[in-house]
Amino acid sequence: MTKTLFSICIWALVAWLIGQWINPQTGWAILTFGLVSMILISGIQLSQIKRWVKNLDAPPPPSIGPWDEILAPIYRKLRANRQEIDELRRNVDSIMLAAGALPDGAITLDEEMNVTWCNPMASEHTGLNLETDRGFSIFNILRTPEFAAYARRDDWNEPLLLHLTRDGRDRALLVQLTRYGVKQFLIVTRDVTQLEKLETTRKDFVANVSHELRTPLTVLAGFLETMHDMPQESISDEQREQYHTMMVEQASRMQAIVDDLLTLSTLESSPSSQGKPVRVSDLIEIALQRARSLSKDQHVFVVNVDPNLYITGIESELASGIENLLTNAVRYTPRDGTITVSWYKTESGTACYSVQDTGIGIAAHDIPRLTERFYRVDRGRSRATGGTGLGLAITKHVAMRHDSELNIRSRLGAGSLFSLEFPASRVVPPDESMA
Ligand code: ADP
Repeated sequence: MTKTLFSICIWALVAWLIGQWINPQTGWAILTFGLVSMILISGIQLSQIKRWVKNLDAPPPPSIGPWDEILAPIYRKLRANRQEIDELRRNVDSIMLAAGALPDGAITLDEEMNVTWCNPMASEHTGLNLETDRGFSIFNILRTPEFAAYARRDDWNEPLLLHLTRDGRDRALLVQLTRYGVKQFLIVTRDVTQLEKLETTRKDFVANVSHELRTPLTVLAGFLETMHDMPQESISDEQREQYHTMMVEQASRMQAIVDDLLTLSTLESSPSSQGKPVRVSDLIEIALQRARSLSKDQHVFVVNVDPNLYITGIESELASGIENLLTNAVRYTPRDGTITVSWYKTESGTACYSVQDTGIGIAAHDIPRLTERFYRVDRGRSRATGGTGLGLAITKHVAMRHDSELNIRSRLGAGSLFSLEFPASRVVPPDESMA
């Protein structure tokens, strides 16, 4: 303002001096020219400012005269605000990214318990779709009466366990409700389906182990009591011998179960390692000796084994897997059946161990369950042949620890084919296996 007044004064002074010197009309003309040019310059500056206002990111135009004093601090303030907004936006973005990466689901609700936001994990857990469900009541999404009762409580010290079925899949969710901010609510969801399954498996396992051990233990205790309570002379030597044989049988059964349980537990607890080159044909040879003695010459064995095919692995584990499949073939194949053992390199470079039998076979619906602990198709037959119900569970574990898979093909009454295929990366090149 002072600058403008100063300019007007200068023009007025110059006009007055010229008016005195030449004549008053020239003075007035000079003053008019000065004022008009000041107005014109102001107009140009204003239009420059108008253009700048449309793009406030750029600094104000230079040479805008007195406007600079007003616009420079505005621009500085704007720039500071913009930096602050950018900083806030970055913070919000990183919080949203963190919320998106949370392994738990998070849903925020307003005071009416309507959904205001949720992270992707919450959508996966509950089926909530933020685009369509925002603003809708959470009770439309979590429709169970348990959740409604939980939400009505005054305190939510404990999470709620909810069982939901979505897309045909059952899910166990832990849901925790909390208050935050001003009359807002946060729901945290955690998928505990696997944990729940593990817990059920653990409980079943303990119950199964107890049951499996209790039966032989009861028989054993029964014999011992009988022998203890009966007078010595009332038991014949033959009877005593019979009791003794039966007790040994039951004790061996318990021993076999405990041995297999220990093997399983070692497989589960020890870290898997690559191992060293193993001549698998040697392990097959040992397993064949056991299988033949179990078969008591009642089966025909066909052996197609490549003695020069080595793989890297853990010898004791491989031995156990190889033997399990072979002895199973004997135990589930009636006499005169044929058992074919093969160990060969496939065309794709993998190594395959397979045991084919012409035995009783397995119904399709039983196949997926065979590797469950203590699962047997025919309990009686398994027990009668000394089975523990853990052999295939062990073999599956061994396979997994050797990057392999246990494949089962079978047809009821037509025999079975069990195979383990080891990846080419585990096959030892011939020159190294000779070393
Ligand atoms: P088990 O000690 O009872 O043999 P496994 O885990 O080795 O336990 O096998 C589980 C079940 O799979 C067996 O009880 C049996 O019903 C079935 N099975 C295993 N191998 C064969 C086979 N070669 N032929 C038919 N059934 C088999």
